[in-house]
Amino acid sequence: MIDDKFTQTVINNTNIVDLIGSYISLKRSGSNYKACCPFHEEKTGSFMVSPSKQIYKCFGCGKAGNVITFVRDYEKISYMDALKKLAERINLEIPDNKKNSKKDSKLELIYKIYSLTNEYYVENLKKHGNLAKKYLASRSISEETITKFNIGYALDSFSGLKKYLQRNQINNNILVETGLFKAKDNNVYDMFRDRIMFPIFAINGKVIAYGGRAYTAEQEKIGKYINSPTTPIYIKSKELYGLYHSRFDISKKNYAIIAEGYLDFLRLWECGFTNSVASLGTALTDEQIQLLGRYTKHINILFDGDKAGKNAAIKAAGIAVKHGLNAKIIQLPENEDPDSFLINNPPMALQHLIDNALTLNEFLKMNQNLIETREAIDYLIDISKQMTDPISKDLFLKDISESFKIQESSLREQIAKQSFVQGHDVQKPKKFEFKKSIAEENLIQSILQNNNIIKKVLQEIDFDYFINEDMRIIFKILSDNQDFDYNERTAEFLNKFDNEDLRNKVSGFFLADAFEFDVDDLILQIKVRKYQEDINIINEEITKNPDNAELYERKIFLKREIQALSKSVVHKTLF
Ligand code: ATP
Ligand code: MN
Repeated sequence: MIDDKFTQTVINNTNIVDLIGSYISLKRSGSNYKACCPFHEEKTGSFMVSPSKQIYKCFGCGKAGNVITFVRDYEKISYMDALKKLAERINLEIPDNKKNSKKDSKLELIYKIYSLTNEYYVENLKKHGNLAKKYLASRSISEETITKFNIGYALDSFSGLKKYLQRNQINNNILVETGLFKAKDNNVYDMFRDRIMFPIFAINGKVIAYGGRAYTAEQEKIGKYINSPTTPIYIKSKELYGLYHSRFDISKKNYAIIAEGYLDFLRLWECGFTNSVASLGTALTDEQIQLLGRYTKHINILFDGDKAGKNAAIKAAGIAVKHGLNAKIIQLPENEDPDSFLINNPPMALQHLIDNALTLNEFLKMNQNLIETREAIDYLIDISKQMTDPISKDLFLKDISESFKIQESSLREQIAKQSFVQGHDVQKPKKFEFKKSIAEENLIQSILQNNNIIKKVLQEIDFDYFINEDMRIIFKILSDNQDFDYNERTAEFLNKFDNEDLRNKVSGFFLADAFEFDVDDLILQIKVRKYQEDINIINEEITKNPDNAELYERKIFLKREIQALSKSVVHKTLF
């Protein structure tokens, strides 16, 4: 079972300085280490790593956590995957979480087959792929790129891969399910033959599918590309070609370029646009956009310059906007695709087009030959209705109004009309209430820096004395873990906070300069304020039930309490 104990082992056996140092460069600074924060743009180093506490914290953006959250946030993978990755790193065997692991072992087998296949295709290109290599060279794909992206070659044979896998003890029964084979009359045969093979990597770096490109006229008659079908490890609509290799640069540059083809992607990469992905030739999906959205909120769509490309770009931008991303469309000349443009022009020329990319609104406005105005506005309204973030939606509507010179009220009226017809609920705006309390924060910091005092504090107050929501939750977790030595096991303790903001705050308290607050005084302040709040509530009740004597009694009781407490207060007015 992957449980707390397993997590603990991983944390305790991973040195946070070595780990983070393998991703970014750390400089020693006193007893800590420092770097430019990988989670926000900055020139000075606000990112601190504490070897003694085994946690990190950025004093610029507030992000903080332990080794697991670092890998999760840096790699943009799930918590569980980060944990597994770290376990692999220290050669810790990952326990089977599910009783029913039959399915898992089948997936593992398919991954293994892809790994073997990858080796095989790569070898084939080296040994038997002279013509294929010539073709790649004619398309100006360098040796370095071929190696980097594991481009391979499938022999002109119905059984090459099949035999290779058999030699590696792979049972025939599984072959068809991998999507690398077809079956006819009980005969299983290689699906990819005499093709240049582009492997598709999942975000964890494993090969999960292929695109096979024809390079001879004969094969091209069958189809320029043959693509892997859906398999237990591959769902086309959820993957992006190249993302595994470009993910860090996408985060770093904080924008992504989306092209359509494998060759477009590779050309972009070779020209230094290492923050690109390709959509694998289908219409972009919600899942693909959401996946990309983990790495950046800025998406530049770079499709072919022809009419089909433009229409696809409009759809893609619509999906991105719907998900609250910033989408821009890069306009290529009519007869060019990204590959040809970069063959014919220097990278600077593309950079210039990127710098002048258009928002969806601007693009529609500029291309009225493609979509007439009314249709464009209806399309945009439809997108706006699907936007879940109210602020993005508001900005988007303002933008439509400006671009097309339409009253914002008319747009809203149209939306309301359609919502009414379709019976949609109009979303109520959320009420936000910010309540800050310095006394509460100081008390929490005191408790976190010295776990001996929690028991004493609990004798005086309970978590419902806290008005600041965050402090209340932290206090609750502290009181549920009274015997946990979080001063010794800080990094592990952070795991108890699922909520990112909370975890960041707690780490901040741990690392804040030690300051001796007067804990008794803090408790007193919190008590007084709690009683005061209670009195306010009672007052409200009294207006509703003026004849209820009990309410008056409670009020008087609380007032006396406050008076009694205030006598012993040194700092009276600190909250
Ligand atoms: P090339 O420049 O050699 O034509 P490309 O990768 O740029 O290759 P495009 O024609 O731009 O290809 O097509 C974009 C993508 O659409 C391809 O990368 C491939 O994923 C998919 N695709 C194109 N043609 C086919 C086809 N005939 N069958 C299946 N998929 C295809
Ligand atoms: Mn192309």
